[in-house]
Amino acid sequence: MGDDVAALICDGAGMCSVLRCNQPASKYLDYVNDPLAPRFETPVCEEHMRLIEAGAPWRWNDDDMCLLMGDDLDSGGHLVLGDWTFSEWSGQSELKIECTTPSGKGHEPLRFVVTADELQDFLASFRNRFPDAFNRDDHDTE
Ligand SMILES: [Zn+2]
Repeated sequence: MGDDVAALICDGAGMCSVLRCNQPASKYLDYVNDPLAPRFETPVCEEHMRLIEAGAPWRWNDDDMCLLMGDDLDSGGHLVLGDWTFSEWSGQSELKIECTTPSGKGHEPLRFVVTADELQDFLASFRNRFPDAFNRDDHDTE
């Protein structure tokens, strides 16, 4: 396990790889967490591993080779998209997408008011970009 390139890079000082944490690491986190992908591990301190195991959101940042948690998760301006609803009235369509920040804080829903043609274009490009969102069988079944 110790031969992973990422682990060697991160493990230089044996410190927790969560951004801004200066605690010594005591455990390894498999940050790819995909049984089909190679295993990549990064050192994490006791406290952060406890938070992660309790379900706290985190994200591996490949550019800076660190784990983002808490407010740092939200610093990139990304949103996590949730359920969407669609409504139509007098030739206009509104697509409303519920969303949260990556750390789980609430955020205003995204609203797109479009014509039927614009909506078709939008959905087509969305389908190309996020094919998995349309291939799931469990969309509405939780
Ligand atoms: Zn830590």
